Amino acid sequence: MTDKIQIAVRVRPFNDREQGEDNIIFMDGGKCSIKDPKSGGIKNFHFDKCIWSHDSAGRTLETNEHVFESLGKELLENVYAGYNASIFAYGQTGSGKSYSIEGYPPDSGLLQRICEAIFERKSQLESQDENNSVTVNVSYLEIYNEKLKDLLDPTEKQLKVFVTKKTGVSVRNLSTAYSDSYEDIVSLLADGKKLRIVASTNMNKTSSRSHAVFTLHYMEKSMKDGKKQIIRSKINIVDLAGSERQASTGATGQRLKEGSNINKSLTYLGVVIQKLGENCKGSKNFIPYRNSQLTHLLSESLGGNSKTIMIAALSPAALNYDETLSTLRFAQNVSVISTKTSANVD
Ligand code: ADP
Ligand code: MG
Repeated sequence: MTDKIQIAVRVRPFNDREQGEDNIIFMDGGKCSIKDPKSGGIKNFHFDKCIWSHDSAGRTLETNEHVFESLGKELLENVYAGYNASIFAYGQTGSGKSYSIEGYPPDSGLLQRICEAIFERKSQLESQDENNSVTVNVSYLEIYNEKLKDLLDPTEKQLKVFVTKKTGVSVRNLSTAYSDSYEDIVSLLADGKKLRIVASTNMNKTSSRSHAVFTLHYMEKSMKDGKKQIIRSKINIVDLAGSERQASTGATGQRLKEGSNINKSLTYLGVVIQKLGENCKGSKNFIPYRNSQLTHLLSESLGGNSKTIMIAALSPAALNYDETLSTLRFAQNVSVISTKTSANVD
């Protein structure tokens, strides 16, 4: 079966720096339009979901609960049916990627809500029949300057992405943590976050310059029509580094070097997406997944066995027109890609 990568664009509210700026994003059903603040020209895009989190037009704010209802629930249905699933958030620094993925208290993000729902299912299934069981193992890593770092284990070690036909993408030496409850995940995430490298740029003081990848391995054993059934699936949740071009972040020296390496992963993400898109229209491009850590790690999510969702995070303000337009174009390129999916049920 092939599945199109689902695209959700989400516009965040104006921030303090943008007060008094014109709104340039308009959403209507699946249509998302952007207005060029100089020429007034409008460009239209069409996506699977357009999520409005900004209230200048007097609309209802769509919170992370809405995002979970509209994206997370369907993803979980797939996971419970044995499909791998991926979500990645793309956009310039400060556009709302982490808000959607991790959330900011009290509005917890997709990652937490998905984990919470999985543990609800675990206790429900396990209380129904003593032969039922759900096992959850997680890993959490960061890609920074093309280096991988285990966020669940601070000891120095060499992590390496590798791919096998049977198990897909794995990372050698990466620790996995068995998790028995949602509280386990919350504390793992909190510990992991402390290990993340956070640096400041002009765009967002606490913005992370790294890509964070959370992976959850799900295994469900249950009785189906008197027979034992085993379902295995994997969820990848990715909070990408800011997609902004070097010039607008005011970065120099070390920051600039980091920028170019971060861009190496993001640049190859763009290349891979371009080539996959052409292949979906009949070309036979070689896909250079191995050219960056990020694309190697996401090779399954982008071109393999995974039902994938991309969240394109947008600022509503005229000031960010160039970056926002580039995010919309990137999302449009992703929207033509299909992945091949098959369920893992024994
Ligand atoms: P990114 O991860 O893309 O750099 P963040 O998610 O950290 O950006 O968001 C930047 C700021 O905007 C944060 O202060 C966050 O609280 C706010 N924000 C982002 N998205 C939303 C939203 N949908 N609703 C309310 N505030 C948001
Ligand atoms: Mg962030």
